[in-house]
Amino acid sequence: MILLKLVLEEKLKFKSDRMSKTCKWFEVCPLKRYYEEGKLKKKWIEDYCKGDYKNCVRYKMVEKGIPNPDNMLPNGEIRDDLK
Ligand code: SF4
Repeated sequence: MILLKLVLEEKLKFKSDRMSKTCKWFEVCPLKRYYEEGKLKKKWIEDYCKGDYKNCVRYKMVEKGIPNPDNMLPNGEIRDDLK
């Protein structure tokens, strides 16, 4: 019984860790739409939105309540072709 509890706890922790790898802003972030429209390479999503999102410039700004333009990439670069 104790073993079963430990296994279940590990499974839940694993699931929680995996889920937390996605940025909490992903569903509403303009970069998701750009990617779905084929305007943005998957690498940006993999590297930041579903990876190291805490290093995303957009993420950091939003967390501080600082507005940012829709066409700003996770590295802070502004892309004029993104609309
Ligand atoms: S671009 Fe940045 S803020 Fe937007 S979903 Fe990706 S990691 Fe989050």
